[in-house]
Amino acid sequence: MQKPTYGRFGGQFVPEVLMPALNELEEEYERYKEAPEFLRELNYYLTEFAGRSTPLYHARNLSKKYGTKIYLKREDLVHGGAHKLNNTIGQALLAKYMGKKRLIAETGAGQHGTATAMAGANMGFETVVYMGAKDVERQRMNVYRMELMGTKVHPVRSGSMTLKDAINEALRDWVTNVENTHYLIGSVVGPHPYPMIVRDFQSVIGTEVKQQIMEKEGRLPDSIVACAGGGSNAMGIFHPFVEDTDVKLLPVEAGGCGMQVQGKTAMHSASLGAGEEGILQGARTLILQDKYGQILESTSVSAGLDYSGVGPELAHLAETGRIQPGSVNDQEALDAFHELCRLEGIIPALESSHALAYIKKMADTGELGDLVVVSLSGRGDKDLETVLKVKATAGDEKL
Ligand SMILES: *Cc1c(COP(=O)(O)O)cnc(C)c1O
Repeated sequence: MQKPTYGRFGGQFVPEVLMPALNELEEEYERYKEAPEFLRELNYYLTEFAGRSTPLYHARNLSKKYGTKIYLKREDLVHGGAHKLNNTIGQALLAKYMGKKRLIAETGAGQHGTATAMAGANMGFETVVYMGAKDVERQRMNVYRMELMGTKVHPVRSGSMTLKDAINEALRDWVTNVENTHYLIGSVVGPHPYPMIVRDFQSVIGTEVKQQIMEKEGRLPDSIVACAGGGSNAMGIFHPFVEDTDVKLLPVEAGGCGMQVQGKTAMHSASLGAGEEGILQGARTLILQDKYGQILESTSVSAGLDYSGVGPELAHLAETGRIQPGSVNDQEALDAFHELCRLEGIIPALESSHALAYIKKMADTGELGDLVVVSLSGRGDKDLETVLKVKATAGDEKL
């Protein structure tokens, strides 16, 4: 029995054969994470390849509408259009220092796969991405993007042919090829040390926010709002503020569609708010499961929030009361999506639109305070087809 890492959450619930690989990863990460040469190279890639730092943008029109000063942390401007590259650059560089030649990853909607393909191509890795055959079918453009960058996309035809089956295949590959292969996990999930490593690489978001808000406002914000799927953009922006207890940290989950869906499916993706303790992807955390402990598939209009669990550190911070989870439904997120387009000339990702919708929802309560930072985790160009489809089925003039 392994020791959990974050209160009763976290740990390493994996087959014995994987333990040497996890131990190696932890040791090597501890060795390099503060090494000047590693940090210099990491900073080079983040600046020159990813385009950091990203602006902390005062959204004047949005602020006016909701009567509180709102800043957007523009991760949508990172190369690739989302925060995901911060982590894939970090882990790819770590893999290079570890002497690995090959990167593997699993991807659901294809966004993490694409960010892995970018880092892999740039740093000269052989890159393989496992993806459920159903997802390969649904996400043809992302598959093509990955292939353009030299990544081999491996369709997984076992089980439900979706993300969880792709995870199993990636683990199987890792066990077999651990000598020369790094398994690049895409959010603050999985067995220790992954939640810590991904959080650290994403903390560049919060570190920049802290410096930028001090320069612009001379004080820390009253609250920080971020959407949470696995939780990497949320942990990344929250982490440097966890000790600053006057700053409210508000993760927002996908409340889904509220429609009846058949089979083993939850009606939402709100594992922080409505999940129960269980084991998912090698860690003890809060997950959506039925009374027999079977994982429920989540549902959300936004592919990036469609995950049945949440990172163990977020589960712990929620349990101890340091963060207060909220949720918004698909319609509220879609409304916020359109509102930001019109008011600020910025098309947000549907994931990020959940964070924006929470501002709208909470503005009247006064709980957000006078100075709010929102993590704009990604741009929405990838979501236009989804938005059009919803619009067509809803026949909703308002959209
Ligand atoms: C993947 C993704 C998310 C969700 O992932 P987290 O690990 O919860 O951050 C959120 N926003 C965007 C734009 C994404 O691509």
